[in-house]
Amino acid sequence: GATIGILGGGQLGRMLSVAASRLGLRCHIYEPSDNPPAGQVADAVTTAPYEDAEALGRFARSVDVVTYEFENVPTAALDTIEEIVPIRPGREALRISQDRLTEKTFLRDLGLQVAPFADIADTGALAQALALIGTPSILKTRRFGYDGKGQARLQDAQDAATAYAQMQDQPALLEGFVDFSFEVSVIAARSSAGEVACFDPGENVHKDGILRTTTVPARLNAAQRTDAVLIAARILNALDYTGVLGVELFVTPAGLVVNEIAPRVHNSGHWTQNGCVVDQFEQHIRAIAGWPLGDGSRYCDVTMENLIGDDMDRVAALSAEKNTAVHLYGKVETKPGRKMGHVNRITG
Ligand code: ATP
Ligand code: MG
Ligand code: MG
Repeated sequence: GATIGILGGGQLGRMLSVAASRLGLRCHIYEPSDNPPAGQVADAVTTAPYEDAEALGRFARSVDVVTYEFENVPTAALDTIEEIVPIRPGREALRISQDRLTEKTFLRDLGLQVAPFADIADTGALAQALALIGTPSILKTRRFGYDGKGQARLQDAQDAATAYAQMQDQPALLEGFVDFSFEVSVIAARSSAGEVACFDPGENVHKDGILRTTTVPARLNAAQRTDAVLIAARILNALDYTGVLGVELFVTPAGLVVNEIAPRVHNSGHWTQNGCVVDQFEQHIRAIAGWPLGDGSRYCDVTMENLIGDDMDRVAALSAEKNTAVHLYGKVETKPGRKMGHVNRITG
């Protein structure tokens, strides 16, 4: 069978490896740090930095396709790999989602609703953007943010200067605050033949910028449900995408507003492991390996809860709960704010 190369050895790479293994495929992980969660389950691991062109070349020659579990893969590394083996999802999806400005512009130009936004290149631009967008608003670094890191909420214009200074002149984006009713996400897949399938939208609750729970079904009416799926399909087709993509949406009385996209399997899609015959990880592997998409229809109600930091103390109790599946990532060290695992509770 084929060998899948995965850039990044975190929990997403680990769960992708498990899914690939179930399909009789092999996985080779490329990860700079020692003891990555995915290394415990993959067939092979290369421990080397993304700047090591020789190691990247060897890795690329050992696999049939390369995918990634995070957006911030350095461009030069992708150039090296792409000369040897295909990268799926393709470069365009990565380029767009690596930079919030490019991403928001792409989404807006597709005709989708996004929060009002402005590029912040310097302090002068910040003052102009504040005059245009006002407060409350959110200042976000254009690159490298996740789990709410690199973000500051501005209640009034006075907050802005301090917040921007803390970003140490990194290129940033000012976003108007969307007064949403709740948040949902669509985990969508597109095969190399161009077929599209979406998992049922999940309703997401964040705390301190980090996803806490995802619940299916979300409280969406039929029109909103259809709209969510159409939005995801439009994005997939525009990118000529192969693989799984996460689309985060704000639900407002004026319709669905797209927050951001992730060109990979997504934390808010972990419920599919216990709610669908084919979960998001298998769906991604199927797509990038050139298989047809599987049946991702939802057969039960699920709430996924992330286990973050000291939540690990609850694992013994959780593992004794009925209708609860515990998923742990095998991380060596527990840290505050670190995602250590999750549980899927079947609720109906
Ligand atoms: P992720 O871990 O999902 O990649 P991130 O660091 O990229 O997170 P965002 O998804 O942009 O950050 O924002 C995190 C959360 O902050 C959102 O899920 C939402 O709850 C809130 N948020 C972000 N932007 C806005 C906005 N414009 N209006 C209102 N709330 C927002
Ligand atoms: Mg993000
Ligand atoms: Mg997000």
